[in-house]
Amino acid sequence: MNSAKIYYLVTSIMLLLSSYIIYFNNNIVLGMYGMTVDNNEKLFIAVPTFIVGLFFAYKFITTKYKKQIDHSICPNCKETFNYNELKNGKCEYCEDIDTVDIEEYYKTNKEE
Ligand SMILES: [Zn+2]
Repeated sequence: MNSAKIYYLVTSIMLLLSSYIIYFNNNIVLGMYGMTVDNNEKLFIAVPTFIVGLFFAYKFITTKYKKQIDHSICPNCKETFNYNELKNGKCEYCEDIDTVDIEEYYKTNKEE
């Protein structure tokens, strides 16, 4: 799992939980700040919190998991590279050839 996805998940859980707590236990949360709130004010705080929480949940669901590539191989010249030393993952020797994750490469090309 990449870190952005974890961030979205944690944020959305925290926001959804807070909106629930604010709405149902407002005296506990807001009482700490010496505030007294009526139902309208509760909604005014809880609803936006809930919506932002849903937004982060949506981001969590739609963010694509991106695998970190350490070593990659050029399918053309079979040269291997440290992926983070390449420009956009292109082979240093071949023109405009994308290198591929070395683990994935050997999974699909077992005979080599
Ligand atoms: Zn190459």
